[in-house]
Amino acid sequence: MEAEEKERRKRSTKLTRDRIAFMPVGVEKIAGNLEQVRARIARAADRARRRPEEVTLVGVTKSQPAEAIRAAYEAGVCDFGENRVQEWELKQPLLADLSACWHLIGHLQSNKARRAARVFHMIDSVDSLPLAQKLNDAAAESGLRLPVLIEVKTDPEPAKSGVPEEEAFELGAAILRLESLELRGLMTVPPFLQNAEEVRPFFRRLARLRESLRQQLGRALPDLSMGMSHDFEVAIEEGATQIRVGTALFGARTSA
Ligand SMILES: *Cc1c(COP(=O)(O)O)cnc(C)c1O
Repeated sequence: MEAEEKERRKRSTKLTRDRIAFMPVGVEKIAGNLEQVRARIARAADRARRRPEEVTLVGVTKSQPAEAIRAAYEAGVCDFGENRVQEWELKQPLLADLSACWHLIGHLQSNKARRAARVFHMIDSVDSLPLAQKLNDAAAESGLRLPVLIEVKTDPEPAKSGVPEEEAFELGAAILRLESLELRGLMTVPPFLQNAEEVRPFFRRLARLRESLRQQLGRALPDLSMGMSHDFEVAIEEGATQIRVGTALFGARTSA
Protein backbone atom coordinates (compact mmCIF):
# COMPACT_ATOMS: atom_id res chain seq x y z
CA MET A 1 0.00 0.00 0.00
CA GLU A 2 2.71 2.40 1.05
CA ALA A 3 4.86 1.57 -1.94
CA GLU A 4 1.90 2.12 -4.19
CA GLU A 5 1.25 5.51 -2.65
CA LYS A 6 4.92 6.44 -3.08
CA GLU A 7 4.82 5.40 -6.69
CA ARG A 8 1.65 7.45 -7.26
CA ARG A 9 3.25 10.51 -5.67
CA LYS A 10 6.35 10.08 -7.75
CA ARG A 11 4.23 9.92 -10.88
CA SER A 12 2.27 13.00 -9.96
CA THR A 13 5.37 15.10 -9.23
CA LYS A 14 6.85 13.91 -12.46
CA LEU A 15 3.72 14.97 -14.30
CA THR A 16 3.94 18.40 -12.71
CA ARG A 17 7.56 18.73 -13.70
CA ASP A 18 6.74 17.75 -17.25
CA ARG A 19 3.96 20.30 -17.31
CA ILE A 20 6.29 23.00 -16.13
CA ALA A 21 8.82 21.99 -18.73
CA PHE A 22 6.20 22.42 -21.43
CA MET A 23 4.98 25.70 -20.10
CA PRO A 24 6.19 28.61 -22.19
CA VAL A 25 9.18 30.31 -20.66
CA GLY A 26 8.15 32.97 -18.23
CA VAL A 27 4.47 32.15 -17.63
CA GLU A 28 5.18 31.78 -13.92
CA LYS A 29 6.79 35.22 -13.97
CA ILE A 30 3.83 37.10 -15.44
CA ALA A 31 2.10 37.93 -12.15
CA GLY A 32 5.34 39.34 -10.75
CA ASN A 33 6.01 41.32 -13.94
CA LEU A 34 2.49 42.73 -13.74
CA GLU A 35 3.10 43.92 -10.21
CA GLN A 36 6.19 45.79 -11.38
CA VAL A 37 4.37 47.32 -14.34
CA ARG A 38 1.52 48.44 -12.05
CA ALA A 39 4.05 50.05 -9.71
CA ARG A 40 5.66 51.89 -12.65
CA ILE A 41 2.21 53.08 -13.79
CA ALA A 42 1.41 54.31 -10.26
CA ARG A 43 4.68 56.26 -9.97
CA ALA A 44 4.27 57.89 -13.39
CA ALA A 45 0.61 58.77 -12.69
CA ASP A 46 1.66 60.26 -9.39
CA ARG A 47 4.29 62.47 -11.05
CA ALA A 48 1.65 63.67 -13.52
CA ARG A 49 -0.93 64.19 -10.75
CA ARG A 50 -3.18 61.65 -12.39
CA ARG A 51 -4.89 58.59 -10.94
CA PRO A 52 -3.49 55.19 -12.01
CA GLU A 53 -7.07 54.07 -12.78
CA GLU A 54 -7.10 56.57 -15.65
CA VAL A 55 -4.57 54.39 -17.45
CA THR A 56 -5.72 51.11 -19.02
CA LEU A 57 -3.01 48.53 -19.37
CA VAL A 58 -3.30 46.69 -22.69
CA GLY A 59 -1.23 43.51 -22.59
CA VAL A 60 0.38 42.99 -25.99
CA THR A 61 0.30 39.30 -26.77
CA LYS A 62 1.70 38.93 -30.29
CA SER A 63 3.80 35.75 -30.48
CA GLN A 64 2.62 34.76 -26.96
CA PRO A 65 0.85 31.41 -26.49
CA ALA A 66 -2.69 31.22 -25.11
CA GLU A 67 -1.39 30.02 -21.72
CA ALA A 68 0.58 33.23 -21.26
CA ILE A 69 -2.51 35.31 -22.06
CA ARG A 70 -4.56 33.28 -19.60
CA ALA A 71 -1.92 33.75 -16.90
CA ALA A 72 -1.98 37.54 -17.43
CA TYR A 73 -5.78 37.54 -17.32
CA GLU A 74 -5.78 35.57 -14.09
CA ALA A 75 -3.27 38.03 -12.66
CA GLY A 76 -5.69 40.86 -13.45
CA VAL A 77 -5.09 42.15 -17.00
CA CYS A 78 -8.44 42.77 -18.74
CA ASP A 79 -7.37 44.31 -22.07
CA PHE A 80 -5.21 42.61 -24.66
CA GLY A 81 -3.76 43.70 -27.98
CA GLU A 82 -2.82 41.52 -30.93
CA ASN A 83 -1.15 42.67 -34.15
CA ARG A 84 -2.52 40.17 -36.63
CA VAL A 85 -6.03 38.98 -37.33
CA GLN A 86 -4.90 35.50 -38.27
CA GLU A 87 -2.83 34.95 -35.14
CA TRP A 88 -5.72 35.97 -32.91
CA GLU A 89 -8.18 33.79 -34.85
CA LEU A 90 -5.99 30.82 -33.92
CA LYS A 91 -5.73 31.67 -30.22
CA GLN A 92 -9.23 33.01 -29.65
CA PRO A 93 -11.02 29.62 -29.42
CA LEU A 94 -8.64 28.64 -26.60
CA LEU A 95 -9.55 31.75 -24.61
CA ALA A 96 -13.25 32.11 -25.39
CA ASP A 97 -14.14 31.74 -21.70
CA LEU A 98 -12.30 34.93 -20.66
CA SER A 99 -14.29 38.14 -20.51
CA ALA A 100 -11.53 40.46 -21.65
CA CYS A 101 -11.47 43.27 -24.19
CA TRP A 102 -9.53 42.22 -27.28
CA HIS A 103 -7.92 45.03 -29.29
CA LEU A 104 -6.39 44.94 -32.72
CA ILE A 105 -3.31 47.17 -32.53
CA GLY A 106 -1.49 46.24 -35.75
CA HIS A 107 -2.00 47.46 -39.30
CA LEU A 108 -5.21 46.11 -40.84
CA GLN A 109 -5.73 45.55 -44.55
CA SER A 110 -9.22 46.44 -45.77
CA ASN A 111 -9.75 42.92 -47.11
CA LYS A 112 -9.46 41.55 -43.55
CA ALA A 113 -11.80 44.11 -41.98
CA ARG A 114 -14.75 41.73 -41.81
CA ARG A 115 -12.73 39.04 -40.05
CA ALA A 116 -11.24 41.60 -37.67
CA ALA A 117 -14.67 42.96 -36.72
CA ARG A 118 -15.73 39.41 -35.88
CA VAL A 119 -12.91 38.58 -33.43
CA PHE A 120 -11.91 41.92 -31.89
CA HIS A 121 -13.89 44.25 -29.61
CA MET A 122 -11.96 47.32 -30.58
CA ILE A 123 -9.83 48.34 -33.58
CA ASP A 124 -7.03 50.67 -32.44
CA SER A 125 -5.33 51.04 -35.81
CA VAL A 126 -7.78 52.60 -38.28
CA ASP A 127 -5.72 54.57 -40.78
CA SER A 128 -7.88 55.05 -43.88
CA LEU A 129 -11.45 55.79 -44.87
CA PRO A 130 -11.88 52.64 -47.03
CA LEU A 131 -10.86 50.57 -44.00
CA ALA A 132 -13.25 52.47 -41.74
CA GLN A 133 -16.07 51.92 -44.26
CA LYS A 134 -15.41 48.17 -44.41
CA LEU A 135 -15.36 47.95 -40.61
CA ASN A 136 -18.57 49.95 -40.48
CA ASP A 137 -20.28 47.58 -42.93
CA ALA A 138 -19.15 44.54 -40.95
CA ALA A 139 -20.28 46.04 -37.63
CA ALA A 140 -23.63 47.06 -39.11
CA GLU A 141 -24.25 43.51 -40.32
CA SER A 142 -23.70 42.08 -36.86
CA GLY A 143 -25.79 44.88 -35.36
CA LEU A 144 -23.09 46.25 -33.10
CA ARG A 145 -21.25 49.51 -32.67
CA LEU A 146 -17.51 48.98 -32.97
CA PRO A 147 -15.17 51.26 -31.00
CA VAL A 148 -12.18 52.45 -33.02
CA LEU A 149 -9.08 54.61 -32.66
CA ILE A 150 -7.40 56.49 -35.48
CA GLU A 151 -3.76 55.50 -35.78
CA VAL A 152 -1.70 58.63 -36.37
CA LYS A 153 1.69 58.39 -38.01
CA THR A 154 4.26 60.15 -35.84
CA ASP A 155 7.26 58.15 -37.03
CA PRO A 156 8.78 59.82 -40.11
CA GLU A 157 9.93 56.38 -41.39
CA PRO A 158 7.97 55.94 -44.68
CA ALA A 159 7.16 52.26 -44.08
CA LYS A 160 5.35 52.96 -40.80
CA SER A 161 1.55 52.93 -40.81
CA GLY A 162 -0.92 55.52 -39.62
CA VAL A 163 -2.65 58.51 -41.09
CA PRO A 164 -0.53 61.70 -41.37
CA GLU A 165 -1.37 64.25 -38.66
CA GLU A 166 -2.75 66.73 -41.17
CA GLU A 167 -5.27 64.17 -42.46
CA ALA A 168 -6.54 63.07 -39.04
CA PHE A 169 -9.32 65.65 -38.91
CA GLU A 170 -10.74 64.64 -42.28
CA LEU A 171 -10.67 60.96 -41.38
CA GLY A 172 -12.17 61.68 -37.96
CA ALA A 173 -15.02 63.69 -39.47
CA ALA A 174 -15.72 60.88 -41.97
CA ILE A 175 -15.72 58.22 -39.22
CA LEU A 176 -18.24 60.24 -37.22
CA ARG A 177 -20.63 59.84 -40.15
CA LEU A 178 -20.33 56.05 -40.02
CA GLU A 179 -23.10 54.95 -37.72
CA SER A 180 -21.74 51.58 -36.68
CA LEU A 181 -18.36 52.92 -35.59
CA GLU A 182 -17.67 54.74 -32.37
CA LEU A 183 -14.65 57.03 -32.63
CA ARG A 184 -12.93 56.83 -29.24
CA GLY A 185 -9.63 58.63 -29.84
CA LEU A 186 -6.13 58.34 -31.21
CA MET A 187 -3.28 55.85 -31.17
CA THR A 188 0.34 56.10 -32.26
CA VAL A 189 3.56 54.13 -32.49
CA PRO A 190 6.39 56.68 -32.32
CA PRO A 191 9.92 55.82 -33.47
CA PHE A 192 11.79 53.48 -31.16
CA LEU A 193 14.34 55.58 -29.30
CA GLN A 194 16.42 53.98 -26.59
CA ASN A 195 16.13 57.05 -24.40
CA ALA A 196 12.41 57.29 -23.59
CA GLU A 197 12.76 60.99 -22.83
CA GLU A 198 13.41 61.58 -26.54
CA VAL A 199 10.01 60.09 -27.36
CA ARG A 200 8.23 62.71 -25.25
CA PRO A 201 7.74 65.24 -28.11
CA PHE A 202 5.93 62.56 -30.16
CA PHE A 203 3.56 61.79 -27.30
CA ARG A 204 2.99 65.48 -26.71
CA ARG A 205 2.13 65.99 -30.39
CA LEU A 206 -0.48 63.25 -30.27
CA ALA A 207 -2.01 64.66 -27.08
CA ARG A 208 -2.20 68.11 -28.68
CA LEU A 209 -3.71 66.67 -31.84
CA ARG A 210 -6.42 65.00 -29.76
CA GLU A 211 -7.13 68.31 -28.08
CA SER A 212 -7.58 70.13 -31.38
CA LEU A 213 -9.69 67.32 -32.87
CA ARG A 214 -11.91 67.41 -29.80
CA GLN A 215 -12.61 71.05 -30.47
CA GLN A 216 -12.92 70.76 -34.24
CA LEU A 217 -15.10 67.64 -34.14
CA GLY A 218 -17.01 68.53 -30.98
CA ARG A 219 -16.51 65.04 -29.53
CA ALA A 220 -14.97 63.81 -26.28
CA LEU A 221 -12.36 61.44 -27.80
CA PRO A 222 -11.61 59.84 -24.41
CA ASP A 223 -8.84 57.45 -25.50
CA LEU A 224 -5.20 58.21 -26.14
CA SER A 225 -3.26 55.00 -26.79
CA MET A 226 0.50 55.54 -26.58
CA GLY A 227 3.51 54.16 -24.74
CA MET A 228 5.10 50.70 -24.78
CA SER A 229 7.35 48.75 -22.37
CA HIS A 230 10.31 51.10 -22.42
CA ASP A 231 8.57 54.46 -22.65
CA PHE A 232 5.11 54.17 -21.08
CA GLU A 233 5.97 56.32 -18.07
CA VAL A 234 6.66 59.26 -20.37
CA ALA A 235 3.43 58.51 -22.27
CA ILE A 236 1.46 58.56 -19.00
CA GLU A 237 3.04 61.89 -18.07
CA GLU A 238 1.88 63.18 -21.46
CA GLY A 239 -1.71 62.00 -20.97
CA ALA A 240 -1.93 58.39 -22.25
CA THR A 241 -5.14 56.63 -21.23
CA GLN A 242 -4.07 53.31 -22.73
CA ILE A 243 -0.55 51.92 -22.72
CA ARG A 244 0.40 48.88 -24.79
CA VAL A 245 2.84 46.66 -22.94
CA GLY A 246 4.31 43.42 -24.26
CA THR A 247 7.90 42.76 -23.21
CA ALA A 248 7.65 44.14 -19.67
CA LEU A 249 4.76 41.75 -18.98
CA PHE A 250 5.57 38.65 -20.97
CA GLY A 251 9.34 38.84 -21.39
CA ALA A 252 11.27 39.14 -24.62
CA ARG A 253 9.53 37.81 -27.73
CA THR A 254 11.23 35.04 -29.62
CA SER A 255 9.64 36.23 -32.85
CA ALA A 256 7.77 39.43 -33.67
C1 LIG B 1 4.59 45.02 -30.05
C2 LIG B 1 3.81 46.24 -29.87
C3 LIG B 1 3.70 46.86 -28.61
C4 LIG B 1 4.40 46.36 -27.37
O1 LIG B 1 5.77 46.54 -27.43
P1 LIG B 1 6.69 46.19 -26.17
O2 LIG B 1 7.90 47.00 -26.41
O3 LIG B 1 6.94 44.73 -26.21
O4 LIG B 1 5.97 46.60 -24.94
C5 LIG B 1 2.88 47.97 -28.51
N1 LIG B 1 2.21 48.47 -29.58
C6 LIG B 1 2.29 47.91 -30.79
C7 LIG B 1 1.52 48.50 -31.92
C8 LIG B 1 3.09 46.79 -30.98
O5 LIG B 1 3.18 46.25 -32.18
